[in-house]
Amino acid sequence: MAVRYACRHCETEIGSLPFESAKETINLLQKLDEAEEERYLTFGEDGEVTVRCICEQCEQSLRRFPNYYTFNKWLQ
Ligand SMILES: [Zn+2]
Repeated sequence: MAVRYACRHCETEIGSLPFESAKETINLLQKLDEAEEERYLTFGEDGEVTVRCICEQCEQSLRRFPNYYTFNKWLQ
C-alpha cells in the first residue's frame, strides 16, 4: 500500500511513498474535514491513497501568472 502524490492541476504524478513513510502526511490528512478530503484525496480500490497536491512546474506558473490558476480550474 502506498500514498501517491499527483498534481491536481496537470495530473502529473509527483511520486509515491510507502504507507509507513507517509505517516506525517497521513496525520495531516486526518485533520481534513470531509469537503477538503474530497478535494485533496482520491482513494483507489486497493486502498491506495492519492494526494492531490501541486507539482513544481505548476507552482512556478502560479507564482508567475496568478491568473493561470483560475484558468486551470476552468479546465477541470
Ligand atoms: Zn502540475
